[in-house]
Amino acid sequence: MELTEEQAAVRDVVREFAGEEIRPTALEADETQAFPEDVWDGLAELDLTGLTVPEEYGGYDAHPVTAAVVNEEVAYGMLAVATALSVHSLATSCIAEFGSENQRERWLPEMAEGRPVGAFALSEPHAGSNPAEMSTVARRDGDEYVIDGEKQWITNGRRAGVYVLFAKTDRDDPSSVTQFLVPGDVDGLTVGEKEDKLGLRASDTTSLTFDDVRIPAENRLTEEGKGLSAAFHILTGGRIAIAAQSVGLARCALDEATAYSREREQFGGPISDIQTIRHKLAEMATRTRAARLLTRDAARKRAAGDAALEASMAKYFASEAAMFATNEAVQIHGGYGYVTEGEVERLYRDAKITEIYEGTTEIQKTVIARELLE
Ligand SMILES: Cc1cc2nc3c(=O)[nH]c(=O)nc-3n(C[C@H](O)[C@H](O)[C@H](O)COP(=O)(O)OP(=O)(O)OC[C@H]3O[C@@H](n4cnc5c(N)ncnc54)[C@H](O)[C@@H]3O)c2cc1C
Repeated sequence: MELTEEQAAVRDVVREFAGEEIRPTALEADETQAFPEDVWDGLAELDLTGLTVPEEYGGYDAHPVTAAVVNEEVAYGMLAVATALSVHSLATSCIAEFGSENQRERWLPEMAEGRPVGAFALSEPHAGSNPAEMSTVARRDGDEYVIDGEKQWITNGRRAGVYVLFAKTDRDDPSSVTQFLVPGDVDGLTVGEKEDKLGLRASDTTSLTFDDVRIPAENRLTEEGKGLSAAFHILTGGRIAIAAQSVGLARCALDEATAYSREREQFGGPISDIQTIRHKLAEMATRTRAARLLTRDAARKRAAGDAALEASMAKYFASEAAMFATNEAVQIHGGYGYVTEGEVERLYRDAKITEIYEGTTEIQKTVIARELLE
């Protein structure tokens, strides 16, 4: 649990930014479904858009525990912003780990400064939990690849200037998935309308349609057929980020519920005097803390090597803790928890997605069981 001095200093800076600049915009961003671009620019000024960019390309190159701390604090402010940041970081991680020197120099310094925003395009309308069933194809044609297909649920879809794209080089071969870099301004790419979602409403989630999109062969990030293993490797870090964001949400719900329980009076005293309410708070606090311990443990393992098991455990547990804590926070607020002026209603709607994206809870359990049994 102990953070280094540097990590604690980063936490304090990001906590202040989340409290002063992110959280006050959350209600309006949720209502209007507009991503707060000023907040993004503020994250860039704090070097956080370069979280996973190596220092030689102008990034912060954060230790995984530091990255988890940042994700927790930003999500405390607003999950939609934390999600946009973690997906941008997935894209910069892919370029940093798999890109050529030219690709790194071309994209990473600018992305570290916040723009272009990056996106990670793996899921498709008919291929979510099993991306090997994807049907997007990148056919080699001389010095180019020609891409046809459709991606679904792409975070930062409209905001992005560059997409890390996964496509098969052979339509009939599930093992031919390959990773590419597609600039946002290529001919033949159509970005769909923003999805109208239950929560995470300020986040920009869209489809992407590729119709005869031509990119130079040098935009390939991995060797042909190495795309899926690259995606899973990067998603281990992504799952730790979502776990940390879930901790941030749960903590925010706990703080709101604790404060409200002190203020709200029924039966002649604050509801915080009622043992049932006290037990709810105790359980929220315990699950939140346990989720943070699992998340930081996974981050430490990630720094030392592979952490697929720990990342799945952390994401599974922390996302359920976020659902539990936000549900209890609504309950503790009674009717006031059910209306949109209060914050806990948004937290409750936002929390659900943590159990779905970057691998559903069922998929996390499948990974955990596989690691145990094989
Ligand atoms: C808001 C949002 C943002 C997203 N952002 C991105 C993004 O930036 N990039 C990206 O590539 N994707 C993104 N996704 C996609 C997300 O990762 C997928 O939705 C998720 O992986 C689940 O895939 P699916 O929706 O196709 O569900 P399905 O795979 O169809 O699953 C449906 C249900 O079946 C269960 N199921 C499926 N297979 C199994 C199995 N083998 N064992 C047990 N249960 C199983 C699932 O757990 C689930 O409950 C986003 C999704 C949302 C909603």
